[in-house]
This record gives sequence, structure tokens and C-alpha cells, in this order.
Amino acid sequence: MRALVYHGPKNVSVDEVPDAKIEKPTDALIKITTTNICGSDLHMYEGRTDVEEGKVLGHENMGEVIEVGDGVDRVKVGDMVCLPFNIGCGFCKNCEAGRTGFCLTANPGNAGAAYGYADMGPYNGGQAELLRVPYADWNALVLPEDAREKEKDYVMLSDILPTGYHGTELAQVGIGESVVIWGAGPVGLMAAMSARLRGADQVFVVDRQSDRLKLAEQLDATPIDDSKGDAVQQILDATRGEGADKGVEAVGYQAHDHEGQERPGLTINSLIQAVRPTGRIGVVGVFVPEDPEAEDDLAKEGKFGFDFGTFFFKGQAMGTGQCNTKQYNRQLRNLIHRGKLNPGLIVSHELNLDQAAEGYKNFDDRLDGWTKVLLHP
Ligand code: NAD
Ligand code: ZN
Repeated sequence: MRALVYHGPKNVSVDEVPDAKIEKPTDALIKITTTNICGSDLHMYEGRTDVEEGKVLGHENMGEVIEVGDGVDRVKVGDMVCLPFNIGCGFCKNCEAGRTGFCLTANPGNAGAAYGYADMGPYNGGQAELLRVPYADWNALVLPEDAREKEKDYVMLSDILPTGYHGTELAQVGIGESVVIWGAGPVGLMAAMSARLRGADQVFVVDRQSDRLKLAEQLDATPIDDSKGDAVQQILDATRGEGADKGVEAVGYQAHDHEGQERPGLTINSLIQAVRPTGRIGVVGVFVPEDPEAEDDLAKEGKFGFDFGTFFFKGQAMGTGQCNTKQYNRQLRNLIHRGKLNPGLIVSHELNLDQAAEGYKNFDDRLDGWTKVLLHP
């Protein structure tokens, strides 16, 4: 089969690799119809992880079930399914509690499993013609009859829509509240959409890329361009000096300042400043225990200055971690089906799988207008 293979930093190509196949009775085999490039893929693409060469990438996948193992009885051949990026077993302590992002079985000794990702188990990704789905009865979300018609929307259930929603859940965004979201990438934009869904009043989105800030505006959020003045001050000015009720971090450890200097933690510390005393902050941007490519020694160990004094003094709280996609994706699927959510509006490019390397390069370079790239094998 054809698949997007990682060969080293900024070096990916679509190669011929052995076909994905059923390996266990609980597996299903999916013919991929749409698979996305994610900001999380860029951590590997930029060489920030120890992902092995030869790995097939891709954790935002949907497609048609073409074969199931003997132990699969809920999911049927012919079903159109979207696959949560986390692989869970369904029976460990964490899966039982709904914390499927932290499955203890699918990637023993580590925090959670995913398709095509560094340190998240031996699973290949779906930027390919075929994908093996473990524990398929648990992991495949079956889609309604309009699956193909609304493919651009449903594929977002694999990651960024539930992840954006998770940010607002960790922050406990409620009706009538003000929310500030750091980052107008796909995840930040989905957090803005989710904040609206939860009845937030004012939604601010901070970034410095005008194309992405325009999308935030289309989602009825107030764009805050931090290249045009201190973002914290802009939020304080817009909230009578109090700060926003809630905050969401959707940038991650690769945050940069205006000089292009890498500043992991800059966004967290800004949120502490921009959220009101006793407010909550949800962190879905990725932070890692080790960042071998980091510019300073502390950051190499995944550490950064955390403004704990202000955080404590303001009595704030913070929730963190990978999204437990399964906790939200049925409910969000139903809203897409009823026409109440259209996350596909942020899609900027739909490419053939063979153009994947070009998609990676342009998305990574943050070329103007390259907001979200979908690949069709
Ligand atoms: P992205 O890289 O496309 O978007 C990040 C955005 O942050 C960009 O628009 C960039 O201009 C902006 N940015 C960079 N530094 C900034 C700063 N100092 N202030 C304000 N904005 C700044 O990525 P994405 O796909 O939107 O993902 C965002 C983060 O979410 C990544 O770290 C990704 O790995 C993570 N993620 C987490 C989960 C999860 O389950 N927790 C799932 C998916 C993605
Ligand atoms: Zn993703």
C-alpha cells in the first residue's frame, strides 16, 4: 500500500510499504478515505521526538471498514467510521473511567496509545491506504448515512474537535463566561467553537497569524493579534481589568516569542496573567517530558519557568493532558449530523495522499492560508 513514511527531520515521503492487515481477532481493517495532517505531527516532522524512521504517520483518520477479526461484532464491513486518535482497550482502569487517552493496556508503561505517533505504542498511522484498528468494537465510532457527504466535518472527530472541546471541559467553561484561548491553530479554533457551544459570552483567541485570526472571527470570537501589542494587556483591557473567567492553552511547548525565539511556557504564564483570580485553565497544547531539540538545557528536560507564585496567589486551577476523545465524540458526531456544528469550515487544503510531503512542508512553514490539510488516499 502507499503510505506517508517518516525518514528523519523534515524528511517524509509517500512510499510503498507492506499492507496493514488484521493481526488480532479484535482488529478491524479500514480503507482510509480521509486522513489529516495535525499540529501534533509537526512535533515529529520538526525532529522534536524520537519517533523511529520508517513509521507511518497519521492519527486523524476516517474510512470504510473492509474486514473485521473474528472477535469483532459491533462494527461491520461497509460501516463508515471515524477513529479517535487514542487507542484504548476498553477494560483497563483508565478506559473504564472514560480516560481513554491514558489506556494502560494499549501501550504498557507509557501514558496512552495512538496511531502513528512517537512514544505512543507500536501502531502505524493512517496517512495510508489502509489502517489496522485494534480493539475495533471499542475504538471505531460508527458514522451516520451522511458520512461521505460531511466527510470534512466528521473527520475532525478523530482529534481536533474533541481536543478543543476537552480544553473547554478542563477549564469548565460555562454559560455567559469570558474565555481566552492561546493559539488559533486548528485546536485553538475548535476550542473557540466549543466555547460557543457551551454558551460562553466573550471568546478571545490569541495568535499572530492573520489568516487564522480571521477564522477565529468567523467563529464569532474576538481575535487578539499579539504582534500588535501585549496580548495580556489587550485581554485585561477588554475585561474591566479583571481577566477572562477561563483560559485554554492550544499552542504547546513549541511556543515562540516575536523574535522567533523558542519560549516553552510563555503561553502558560501569559494565561495565568490573563485569567481572573480563581479562574481555571485547560492545557491541551502538548508539553513533553523531554525535548531533545530544545534551545536551552532546562527545556531539553521538558522544564520551563512556571509562574507558580501568581498562579497560587490568584487561586487558579489547571487541567492538562491528551484528550479522552471517546468521552465527547458521539455527542459531537450527533451535532454534526443535525447540522449544528461544522468544524470542516477550517479546512484549507484537500490533497491526494501522494502530495502529502508538500502538505507537511507548507503546513509546517505556516504558509499563509494553510490552516488544515486533509489527505485523500
Ligand atoms: P498549530 O501548530 O497549527 O497551531 C499553533 C498555533 O499557535 C499557530 O497558529 C501559531 O502561530 C500559534 N502560536 C505559536 N506561538 C504562539 C504564542 N507565543 N502566542 C500565541 N500563539 C502562538 O497546531 P494545532 O494543530 O492547532 O495544535 C496545537 C497544539 O495542540 C499542539 O501542541 C498539538 O500537539 C496539540 N494537540 C494536543 C492534543 C491533545 O489531545 N491534548 C491533540 C491535538 C493537538
Ligand atoms: Zn491530531
